[in-house]
Amino acid sequence: MLSADQARRIILEHSRFLGSEKIPTLQSQGRYLADEVKAPMPLPSFDNAAMDGFAIRALDVLQASENNPVTLKVIKRVVAGDNIYQHCVMPLGHGQAVRIMTGAPVPEGADTVVPFEDVTFTETTCELKDGVKEGQHVRRQGEDVLVGDLVLSCGEKLDLRRLALLTAVGVDQVCVGRKPKIKILSTGNEIIPLGEDLKPGQIYNSNGPALVLALKAMGLEATELSIAVDTEEDLEKILQSLSDVDILLTVGGVSAGDLDLVPKVLKKLGAEPLFHKVSIKPGKPLLFCRWDQRLVFGLPGNPVSALMVFERFVRPALLQMQGAKNIFSTTYQAIMQEDLRASHGKEDYLRGHVIYSEGQFQAFSAGRQGSAHLKALASSNAILIVPESVDYLHQGDAVSFVFWGDS
Ligand code: AMP
Ligand code: MG
Repeated sequence: MLSADQARRIILEHSRFLGSEKIPTLQSQGRYLADEVKAPMPLPSFDNAAMDGFAIRALDVLQASENNPVTLKVIKRVVAGDNIYQHCVMPLGHGQAVRIMTGAPVPEGADTVVPFEDVTFTETTCELKDGVKEGQHVRRQGEDVLVGDLVLSCGEKLDLRRLALLTAVGVDQVCVGRKPKIKILSTGNEIIPLGEDLKPGQIYNSNGPALVLALKAMGLEATELSIAVDTEEDLEKILQSLSDVDILLTVGGVSAGDLDLVPKVLKKLGAEPLFHKVSIKPGKPLLFCRWDQRLVFGLPGNPVSALMVFERFVRPALLQMQGAKNIFSTTYQAIMQEDLRASHGKEDYLRGHVIYSEGQFQAFSAGRQGSAHLKALASSNAILIVPESVDYLHQGDAVSFVFWGDS
C-alpha cells in the first residue's frame, strides 16, 4: 500500500496550476498572487509630519537650552491634504517655523518636526528650550517603500495586511491564480440532508456540509450535488451530468463494502485511478483519480476520515492549483502529556488538544479516536501526526502536530 508521502506526491504531481486572472485588488482577499508586484510609487510618497507641532530647521535650535531659549517665527500653517506648492509655502528661512499637522507635507527647508508638547507657542511664535534630533518626527519619502521595490512575490496570499500595502501604493488590479471549480457528491442510502425527519437506519449528512465549510474557510465555493444512493445507476446518472468542474470530492462508497461502488462507477465512466488506499489512519480507503481534465478525490465516508483526508491531502492540492507558495500547514512539536495509542504501520492523524505552557507545546488526546467520533474532533484544536514507524505515544514523547486549517 502507498505511504502517505507517496500518495501526497502523486496528488501534487497532478494538481496543476489553473492559470491566472486579473481582478480588482479589493476583491482579491484570500487569493494567491500569480505575478510579483513592484511598487509604482514610494511610501511615504512625500516627506510628511509624524506629529502635530512645528516644522523647523534643526540647525536653528542647536544652541537652545533652558537658559538660552530660541524663539522661531511661525510663518504658515499646513494640514494633511494641503498642496504646499499651491499654498505658496515658501522654503523655510533661517529662524522660521511652520505650524504642521500629522500627515501634512513638510515644507522645503524644514528637516525636523517638534511636537506641540515640547514647545511654548503663540499664533506667531514658537519657543524651544532644548535642542532637537535632526529629522525627528519626519517621515521621509520612500523610507518604507522605494519605487520599484518588490513589495509582494508570486504565490503570496493576499491577506488584509498585504492588501493594505497594495492599496497604499495604488495598485488597484492584481493577477491571481484562478480558483478551482469544486463539486461535492455525498453517497449512501442512509444519508439524509439536515432538516428532514430521520427514519430508522438513516443518518444526517455531516460530511457534505462540513466540506463546504472547509472550502469556504479557504475562500473557495463548492456546489453540493444531490445525495446519491448506493446503486450504480444513481451514481452514474449524477456523475455523467457533471460539467464545469476542476475538482470532484465524493464522500463514502470507496471502501470494501458490498455497496462501495464509487471506484467502479468512476472507472466505468472513464476516470483513471491514480491510487486507491493509503497507509494512513483514519482515511485508508482514499481514492484519487484523473478524469479528463478533472481530479477526483474519493473520500471515505466516516466523518473524521473525510475531514482528515481533506486537511492532509486535498487542501495542499487546492492551494497548489491556485499558485500558493505555502501549501502545507506549519508542523510544530509538542510533548505528550499522556499515553496515546496509534496504529501499527500507518501514519496516524490523531485528534489532539494542544496548549502552550511552561515554554513548550503540550499535547493531550482530544477524546475518543475512532473515525466516526465527532465529539473529539469538535473539541480538538490540532492534528497529531504519528509516523508509520511509531505505534504508541508515551507521556513525555515528542509528537509533531499541525493546527487545524493552518496554511
Ligand atoms: P462508507 O465510506 O460509505 O462506507 O461510509 C462509512 C461510514 O461513514 C458509514 O457509517 C456511513 O454511514 C458514514 N457516512 C458516509 N457518508 C457520510 C456523510 N456524508 N455524512 C455522515 N456520515 C457519513
Ligand atoms: Mg456508504
